[in-house]
Amino acid sequence: MEKDGLVIVYTGKGKGKTTAALGIVLRAVGYGKKICMIQFIKGSWHYGEMYSSKKLEPEFEMIAVGKGFVGIIDDKSSKDDHEKIAKEAIRISMEKIQSGKYDIVILDEINYAINLDLINIEDVKNLIKSKPEKLDLVLTGNYAKEEIIDLADLVTEMREIKHPFQQGIKARKGIDF
Ligand code: ATP
Ligand code: MG
Repeated sequence: MEKDGLVIVYTGKGKGKTTAALGIVLRAVGYGKKICMIQFIKGSWHYGEMYSSKKLEPEFEMIAVGKGFVGIIDDKSSKDDHEKIAKEAIRISMEKIQSGKYDIVILDEINYAINLDLINIEDVKNLIKSKPEKLDLVLTGNYAKEEIIDLADLVTEMREIKHPFQQGIKARKGIDF
């Protein structure tokens, strides 16, 4: 059986979900494929991939919608604001998925956004169901819902065996961010 485009989910507690998605980017750019990564949660702090995306242009495009989610933790903005940003994130994702401009779309940390009730799972299911046949769609983040897993072709759960965090080692440039 041949399937044109896959739905891929990287979930689990262990480190490596976003890294795995970026591994796909590196591989696909080698073939001149076009990839769009939309970051849902990541906020104001900087990530290496923000800079590498510039070097991998025009094949790789990165959009940090997540900036709008900054401050979820010590939050001052209303639930209303969050819902607006969430709607915007879904709208951008839908637009990118439907645009026909990309071979691969990555919705980074989207599972967290679902889990935090920032976005509606039905909207995400719609995104998945309405994707063009040929498009590969990658969703990352722990706590992937069963309903998302049901729609996926490939699901990998990163299992934590050890993490330097447990020894009090801080996140490292180029490894963690
Ligand atoms: P990465 O981006 O390194 O592939 P990830 O996507 O699997 O990690 P996230 O849940 O998105 O993990 O975590 C975001 C940040 O937390 C990253 O800087 C990551 O290195 C770090 N991290 C990931 N897993 C753990 C863990 N089990 N304990 C502590 N920190 C973690
Ligand atoms: Mg991640």
